[in-house]
Amino acid sequence: ATPTALLVGTTRGAELGVLIRDARVLESSRGISAMLVDKTGTVTEGRMRVEGVAAAAGEDADEALRIAAAVERASEHPIARAIAAAAPDAPVASDVRAAQGAGVVGVAEGRAVQVGKPAWLADDWGVAMPRELADPFERFEAQGATALAVAWDGRMRAVIGVRDTVKATSRAAVERLAGIGVEVVMLTGDHERAARTVADEVGIERVIAGVSPAEKVDAVRAEQARGAKVAMAGDGVNDAAALAAADLGLAMGTGTDAAQQAADITLVHGDLAGAADAIALSRRTLRTIR
Ligand code: ADP
Ligand code: MG
Repeated sequence: ATPTALLVGTTRGAELGVLIRDARVLESSRGISAMLVDKTGTVTEGRMRVEGVAAAAGEDADEALRIAAAVERASEHPIARAIAAAAPDAPVASDVRAAQGAGVVGVAEGRAVQVGKPAWLADDWGVAMPRELADPFERFEAQGATALAVAWDGRMRAVIGVRDTVKATSRAAVERLAGIGVEVVMLTGDHERAARTVADEVGIERVIAGVSPAEKVDAVRAEQARGAKVAMAGDGVNDAAALAAADLGLAMGTGTDAAQQAADITLVHGDLAGAADAIALSRRTLRTIR
């Protein structure tokens, strides 16, 4: 490729809100055949709201939400923001630590608190779900919401349902990518049902759900091993390693710095329309060279 063509492509990209780190990226994005897309904050707005809180026997829902909000307040995860926003009077927590793709822990009002996936609570903290929470948990998930468990001092106190909305541009972008021969696959840490609901809404057929940040990397490598040239689009700290492992990493400009630093391209408008623009642009640029 001539330097001039690449310069023109890079400039055109900037006009479209496709910020290319290095002009050579335009060459490496040629032949992309699969795009793995993160769900939360990439396909969806990543602006979640709390839909409901169900308390375990003898517990108070508002209290559980307040304690959960205390440990979530410091986190920039969309789930954390939703929970924090729902309880603005939350106390200040200390020793807060995030477990990427699983949840968050901290100390609030003298209680050792965990908020996150029930499977993580069971595996890492030995906290089981009391029988009366199984129903509300199922109900949240069946509706396509994401259900989080709140525990402190060794017992699960409540489940919180949060919901997100799909970005207006996602569906058309998936269609456009398919039209230029790129298979779009959803890759998410969220559970299968929430993933499926969102995937159906935007026309994505294949879903890889319930994966940790490290497993997102494995998924990229697995696609590459099948002979695909793989792009990955994401916004979170939990996507950074997969963005770096992909043949082409696309970060949402609306997402975290970690994702943008790991990626080859930053999409200023923060949506998949930009991802489709990027692939189309690289193909056009290389065509003019030939
Ligand atoms: P995605 O891949 O959709 O962006 P993540 O990998 O960030 O999702 O998170 C996967 C799952 O881990 C979430 O659906 C949630 O169950 C749990 N989780 C992650 N971060 C938090 C948090 N701060 N608070 C509670 N749960 C969390
Ligand atoms: Mg995300």
